[in-house]
Amino acid sequence: MPNKVEKQIEKRKQKLSFEHLGLSDEMLDTLEHIGYEKPSPVQAGVIPLVLDDFDVIGQARTGTGKTAAFAIPILEMLDLEVKKPKPQALILAPTRELAVQVENEFKRMSNPEQVKCCCLYGGRPIKTQINQLERGCHVVVGTPGRVIDHLNRGTLNVDQLWFVVLDEADRMLDIGFRPDIEKILRRCPKERQTLLLSATLPYAILQLAKRYMYRPKVINFSKNSVAAETIEQFYMTVPEDLKYDILNRLLEREQPEQSIIFCRTKLGTERLYRKMFKAGVFSDVGTLHGDMNQGARDRMMRDFRSGKVRYLVATDVVGRGIDITNVSHIINFDLPGLSDDYVHRVGRTGRMGKQGVAFSFVTPQQGVELTKIERKINSELQLDPLQEEIDEIRGPLSSRGKSKKRYRRAL
Ligand code: AMP
Repeated sequence: MPNKVEKQIEKRKQKLSFEHLGLSDEMLDTLEHIGYEKPSPVQAGVIPLVLDDFDVIGQARTGTGKTAAFAIPILEMLDLEVKKPKPQALILAPTRELAVQVENEFKRMSNPEQVKCCCLYGGRPIKTQINQLERGCHVVVGTPGRVIDHLNRGTLNVDQLWFVVLDEADRMLDIGFRPDIEKILRRCPKERQTLLLSATLPYAILQLAKRYMYRPKVINFSKNSVAAETIEQFYMTVPEDLKYDILNRLLEREQPEQSIIFCRTKLGTERLYRKMFKAGVFSDVGTLHGDMNQGARDRMMRDFRSGKVRYLVATDVVGRGIDITNVSHIINFDLPGLSDDYVHRVGRTGRMGKQGVAFSFVTPQQGVELTKIERKINSELQLDPLQEEIDEIRGPLSSRGKSKKRYRRAL
């Protein structure tokens, strides 16, 4: 049964236009200028609640327009009169890449002369960030570790803070940021608006919300959308030593516009990247993993976003949160360790309603893992026709054994 807030959202959806959300003319012009024709459901739901001063818990995945859902009302409510502003909004994000992306979305929707944004994350000189904060910032986006660092040094002043956003809260808790987040929230003024965005709402998140939010409105935008409906998903059973050949054939057949090729380990990622690079066919291949320094990671994200890099070989660092609209193909060169990560990886394509396709290489020993993924997304991956070629080379292979039966029973 939909709750009261969800019913209101349903009503709002019926008259989906930014004009109906009570935004300023200036904001409406900006949205038109950047090509946002109508609000996504998350935006239609969240924006009016934030403008009405509510704390909000939005269960939404990336790719749903969730960043603008909090950025638009925050920008609408900033006090821009002050000359050297102290931060009025603090957005906490789990990774550096996501923090940069959020900052970019704020910048895209505001005039840089008027609204000052600052991004705080590790791996970058702290001095530059301190200087920026000293010059004055309206909006601060950062990863919890670096934000704490600035709080401890006294370089980040949160006295005037009105908005605190926890973006991808489940991910932040997953990677152990809970103590940092709590420390930060305790330092923020009690009188504030707190927004929490999360793909899932496990108990730990609800506890956090209970402790640090004021009567939040909870809305769920991810019902029945464990993996976006616009994504076709295939698998093939490939022995480890054939994966590289099959990847070549797949890319040749598919000619992706842009593709992320996921590996499980940093070492495996680096190895595959080098192999592809050396082969010469893939001059536009790049790599992204946690062993790279921040400068190299930033450059790679820029090159991928601009299309200079067409194939990005990556670990799950980019599995969550990162938004690149042109990613047409996701290839799971290695299956992820957790089926949750499968959903996040695959969610890098098919964004904002675009078509996307995902292929997973499953080794003959990984039947159980395949089954877990299928349970998670509540549907079966389709067998890719390339399987015939693989079987010709190796004889019939299948990663589906008993596990398949178990999957059927589970449905
Ligand atoms: P997010 O879920 O915030 O990562 O956003 C996913 C992508 O959708 C980003 O590239 C946004 O720029 C884009 N986007 C957000 N809102 C809209 C909208 N209303 N219309 C078109 N694109 C949008």
